[in-house]
Amino acid sequence: MEKRDYYEVLGVDKNATAEEIKKAYRKKAIQYHPDKNPGNKEAEEKFKEAAEAYDVLSDPQKKQRYDQFGHAGLGGAAQGGFSGAGFDMDDIFSRFGDIFGGHFGDFFGGGNSFTGSFNTGNARRVNRGSDLRVRVKLTLAEIAKGVEKKIKVRKDVACPHCHGTGAESAADVKTCPHCHGKGVVIQTTNTFLGMMQSTAVCPQCHGEGKIISHPCKQCQGEGVVKDEEIISLHIPAGVQEGMQLSMSGKGNAARRGGKPGDLLVLVEEEPHPELVRDENDLVYNLLLTIPQAALGTSVEVPTVDGKAKVKIEPGTQPGKMLRLRNKGLPSVNGYGTGDLLVNVSVYIPEKLTDSEKKTLSGWEEAANFRPSPSVKEKIFQKFKSYFS
Ligand SMILES: [Zn+2]
Ligand SMILES: [Zn+2]
Repeated sequence: MEKRDYYEVLGVDKNATAEEIKKAYRKKAIQYHPDKNPGNKEAEEKFKEAAEAYDVLSDPQKKQRYDQFGHAGLGGAAQGGFSGAGFDMDDIFSRFGDIFGGHFGDFFGGGNSFTGSFNTGNARRVNRGSDLRVRVKLTLAEIAKGVEKKIKVRKDVACPHCHGTGAESAADVKTCPHCHGKGVVIQTTNTFLGMMQSTAVCPQCHGEGKIISHPCKQCQGEGVVKDEEIISLHIPAGVQEGMQLSMSGKGNAARRGGKPGDLLVLVEEEPHPELVRDENDLVYNLLLTIPQAALGTSVEVPTVDGKAKVKIEPGTQPGKMLRLRNKGLPSVNGYGTGDLLVNVSVYIPEKLTDSEKKTLSGWEEAANFRPSPSVKEKIFQKFKSYFS
């Protein structure tokens, strides 16, 4: 399915401030909130879509990548391993609860009445593993086609002994008696305005809703241990130096069976010995001899995956740019392919023998070796065009 533009999803324009983005998200979240639209799948999808858009646009780093590369910058357009943020409801309630410095209920302006503002019945805090960052170095040939890479990472994985629960045995996990598994407690205070209700994270289970009586001996109750894992990365064609791809859920495992973090893959480009990248174009500097440029010739130039033949017309001037269509790199968004630009330069000998000097001095007198006024004008116009 084609992903919608995040700005469009929230109904803001690209120059919207962080405050405007937050406001727009709040509006959408209230509009499509599951409490208001019980059993409505379409509203649920819209609710998730808005959360995903907000997740990106409220994070300066993600926003910058999105502005620069679109969904592909976040790994959304890539095939295979990478997926979009793909939130489920638990994610939304747990993640955005944190962002707004409290729980989700506060965000909706539902006063302090937690249960009154939404009734998902799940206020438990879901632990989230941290993101894992890796770098991959890619050649231009790999970037041109896209590539599968296997990398070894050391990361937190679910403890094999307790399967991530942190408990020595299943019987050691008990519903928190203080909050009855809700993760929050409602406090009622008598004030001169009347009875006030507020919610707080349960002090006994710290919001997890459960208590472990005997922690797992292997992970000391954390639910995670360090291990090495081989991860297959699918790098889409057209990526650029500095671009970051994210693989949802491939980061560090969370404490006690929460949501794993993401794996963030930073792209590094290995310099090519002969080709220079300019966005999706590649540039090659072709060095001709004076006779080649004057007489015309046929030469081979390197491409990203081989060679291409180029015809040089007699009388080719240095600075002429030849364009080999579609011999550049594909756009990471799938919009076409760049060109290979061949910049013609001419080698002027740096050392000459006496007889060569004599020959060249003879050329100096020949009319064809002096530019005519019209040729001068043509070359000057070309030169001028570089500055406009
Ligand atoms: Zn364990
Ligand atoms: Zn509790």
